[in-house]
Amino acid sequence: MNSDRSHELFARAKTFFPGGVNSPVRAFRSVGGEPFIVKHGKGPFLFDVDGNRYVDYINSWGPLVLGHAHPAVVAALHEQAQLGTSYGACHEREAELAQVVRELFPSLELMRFVNSGTEAGMAVIRLARGFTGRRKIVKFEGCYHGHADVLLAKAGSGVLTLGLPDCAGVPPSAVEDTLVAEFNNAESVERLFDACGEEIAAVIVEPVVGNCGLLVPEPAFLKALRSITEKHGALLIFDEVMTGFRVHLGGAQALYGVRPDLTMLGKVIGGGLPVGAFGGRRDIMERLAPLGPVYQAGTLSGNPLAMVAGLSTLSEWRKPGVFERAVGVTERLVEGLRAGAANHGLPLVAQSVGTMFGFFFSEKPVRSYRDTLSADKDAFNRFFHAMLEAGVYFAPSAFEAGFVSVAHDGEAIDFTLAVLDQGFRAAKQR
Ligand SMILES: *Cc1c(COP(=O)(O)O)cnc(C)c1O
Repeated sequence: MNSDRSHELFARAKTFFPGGVNSPVRAFRSVGGEPFIVKHGKGPFLFDVDGNRYVDYINSWGPLVLGHAHPAVVAALHEQAQLGTSYGACHEREAELAQVVRELFPSLELMRFVNSGTEAGMAVIRLARGFTGRRKIVKFEGCYHGHADVLLAKAGSGVLTLGLPDCAGVPPSAVEDTLVAEFNNAESVERLFDACGEEIAAVIVEPVVGNCGLLVPEPAFLKALRSITEKHGALLIFDEVMTGFRVHLGGAQALYGVRPDLTMLGKVIGGGLPVGAFGGRRDIMERLAPLGPVYQAGTLSGNPLAMVAGLSTLSEWRKPGVFERAVGVTERLVEGLRAGAANHGLPLVAQSVGTMFGFFFSEKPVRSYRDTLSADKDAFNRFFHAMLEAGVYFAPSAFEAGFVSVAHDGEAIDFTLAVLDQGFRAAKQR
């Protein structure tokens, strides 16, 4: 596979951006080598500047449930661009998108749009503290909620793979009220509440973890979080930036039947444009400015281009049978991964929830961050590079989930299953 032009352009990027990138995981540090430079995307495929084609299982890290450059999304953006790209004032599309969101997530009695998941994370923490008058926050090891200081204790995603014990530049005072528990271990949460329950404002969790590979919640775990927080007057926050619209149209809260007090959304909600949202109980959301004393604002929040990208994406995604088709493709992929690994005698834990998937080269079940540590990262890296060479792009890190779009149905999944063997053969060779 030729990569001359990518190499040249990446060298140029390094003269502008630290590590050549605008977000760390893109730099391939975890798997080694250099990233390709994208020329364009279409449906399930990315094409690089050297003319190579890749089946894309990242989909912009989740948002692109319809694949790249879906005609309905492109048309909606084109139409809106001619009407103006930003107003900094109220417009009709905001409520249209909010209506769709609330139909799918009834727990969002009121909501607010922001520009990223990180912003949603900052806002829910401030709001939870402002509403409860308490300071402490409980999060889980390996969960990532964006890069706000307060949430960068034991975080997932790039923070994990870079092996940063904590993040430099975050003062101890910023995380002194951040308590860390173990995912799928309700007792670890109970212990924290026993010690200082009256000071805990909220528990924040990725209900299905996607920033530490894929970790699936045990049935009782999320329900236990609901009852522990209720008992102690703390709020339960679901970070559904990744799981929203993906594990189920109504997110993990619909899939597992647990209603959080506050929810963060992002990724899919913007259909590939920068959008985040947070919302929840009316009495809590009414504490937000201009109704209440908790300040939060954004120059480009509710941006009309972003709203129509989200609207057009979700209206296609909700059409009967579309989500189910994408789930079917995800299941075929996971079965293919299991079968391929088994053929080569490689231990593999491969799982999916809705249209999110993940796999670990591990002998043991993987239920929490700690379990991921014993997975064979080198085998993953060999697998990753062999698959990339074959034209299939999985996330360039053993600690990231993968994403399927409905556009993967057909040629893309068939091609993937046909070349998987090359990946496992490489994974086996040390
Ligand atoms: C991606 C992600 C975020 C951060 O969203 P950005 O838009 O990258 O700021 C927060 N929480 C979860 C669960 C995510 O997957």
